[in-house]
Amino acid sequence: MKQGVHPKTHYIKVKCSACGAVYIVLTTTDVTDMHLPVCAKCHPAFTGGPIDTKRMTRVQQFMKKWGYKLEQQEEQKEQAQQKQAGKSQAQ
Ligand SMILES: [Zn+2]
Repeated sequence: MKQGVHPKTHYIKVKCSACGAVYIVLTTTDVTDMHLPVCAKCHPAFTGGPIDTKRMTRVQQFMKKWGYKLEQQEEQKEQAQQKQAGKSQAQ
């Protein structure tokens, strides 16, 4: 093996924020640990289970990060549900 051309590698812990699973990963970066929002053990695409509705959606995370109000969205959702309920009662 040629000396001085290969990057230095080390193992880090990668932790899933949703389910708490820990993975040991080989990396060349300087980080010591890393967090994932979701992993293969808990993502519905891999588990086949229902989507966790308690976790915030990408839009909700964006709104929270940048300080937008979610109240308007919730009011609009309620109004839409009331409209649908009214239509189903009329039929
Ligand atoms: Zn996970």
